[in-house]
Amino acid sequence: MSLKTGSIKEILLTKENLLEKSLLSSLSKSTEILTSKQGWEHGINAILKDLGNTTKVSRVWIFQIIELNSEYITQDYAFEWAAAPKYVQLGMPVFKEFKNKIGTEEYRELIESRTKGEWQKAITRTLPDTYLKSTLVEQKIKSMLTIPIIVEEKLWGVLGFDDCEREYDWSDTEIALLQIASFFISSAVLQNRLSSKEKQLNILQKIVSSGSWEYDIRNKHLLTYSEIFSSNDKFLENKHFSLVDFFKFVHKDDRKNLLETIIEFFSGDKEIFTYDLRIENTKGKYQWIEIIGALERDSDRNPLKLSGIVIKVDSRKKIEIKLKKEAETDHLTGILNRRIFWEKLDYQIKKSENRNNIFSLLIFDIDHFKKVNDTWGHSAGDEVLKHFTLLCLKELREGDSFSRVGGEEFALILQNASEKIALKVGERIRKSVEQHPCRTEGFEISITVSAGCTSYKDSKINSKTLYKITDAALYKAKESGRNRITCHSEE
Ligand code: GH3
Ligand code: MG
Ligand code: MG
Repeated sequence: MSLKTGSIKEILLTKENLLEKSLLSSLSKSTEILTSKQGWEHGINAILKDLGNTTKVSRVWIFQIIELNSEYITQDYAFEWAAAPKYVQLGMPVFKEFKNKIGTEEYRELIESRTKGEWQKAITRTLPDTYLKSTLVEQKIKSMLTIPIIVEEKLWGVLGFDDCEREYDWSDTEIALLQIASFFISSAVLQNRLSSKEKQLNILQKIVSSGSWEYDIRNKHLLTYSEIFSSNDKFLENKHFSLVDFFKFVHKDDRKNLLETIIEFFSGDKEIFTYDLRIENTKGKYQWIEIIGALERDSDRNPLKLSGIVIKVDSRKKIEIKLKKEAETDHLTGILNRRIFWEKLDYQIKKSENRNNIFSLLIFDIDHFKKVNDTWGHSAGDEVLKHFTLLCLKELREGDSFSRVGGEEFALILQNASEKIALKVGERIRKSVEQHPCRTEGFEISITVSAGCTSYKDSKINSKTLYKITDAALYKAKESGRNRITCHSEE
């Protein structure tokens, strides 16, 4: 048997249930109209026309609710199809954003019924002589049907069918089918709302060069909607990534900390996640981005999704890095300053306690530096300080931190270094200083340096005490003749 194909353009109509069948075909056309890209206003007008032609009513209309409270309802006559010009009401001043008092019990019941999503029908002649009958008579309506349009669980508007020539009693099946038409209209409204939101978001994204993303916690997938990500051609828009794939584009110096921050976030009770990181673009260059996300939870408070925006922050980051560097740097020598020295020392002690490893501290003080200033002038003294710094830097390894902690006092923290190693490094520096006089302004200024040295392991002392005992060792070196290093242990 071969495969049969076809499209629903026509439904064969028999005499029975003719209207129901043509309504069905009209509904199938409506979905086509609404899913096409013709714009929602066009789509809704086309549906009204189709429903009007099929049902043979005089008029099909949509009221849109502007405001609804317990006392008043304000509506706008938003859309209409009329079978003939004499039935047209759209554009009449009385229907332009008209406000009604919910004054009578009858009217209140009508509004409440619509809010609940119920339909209403009436043959005007059979109604009691109240407000509703008089308005229908005024509009020359012989029978009517109204169906509410509910969008996001709220009454958005009303779809109405007026008959000015017939007294038509709608069957349940017909009403059920027209209710489907009302669902289509609500989905068109919703789609329009979403696409307006998307447009606003696009404008916002352009202004602040941002984008959006979402991370599904259950399937661990990251979805990105942004040219920030797609500036790396591997980050195609709307593409799903695993977190592992994403990490490949994160700067290697940011990965560990990012991962730790993510783990900490998911185990904590914070709702907002923010993080600055560097991400690789197509040219292999890194750019700074800020990720801001909010956590969505299910009814049991389990994390479901983390979603948010991403902003390019290159210029902010440049300023921040510059300010941070300035705040940490000694202006004369360019090495770390006193403030950051104390931070580093505290950090090193903490690390040593946690991992049970050793480190050493050396404090250097240039000998008779006052005499240098007195003899050669203050600016020559400055040159000597810079010269001393360069000689020290030559002897250092990565990970060592070297700071200027006073006028002519310097501190060196040596990671994973025993006293023996620290003493070796210190000696190398001492000898180098002794052997390399500073040449400046045509003079040759010879200097020497003294140092105190302490190693830290399970010492159970704080940074202040560690500094004090190292300084005491330095004092000892000065006392016993200068140009030497004294260790705390031998003191
Ligand atoms: P000692 O061997 O005992 O350390 O003697 P010293 O002369 O080096 O020690 P003292 O503490 O008496 O003198 C330090 C001098 O360093 C005093 C101060 O004017 C000078 N000094 C401090 N900061 C600077 C600076 O930034 N530039 C210059 N040129 N001199 C500085
Ligand atoms: Mg001094
Ligand atoms: Mg000195």
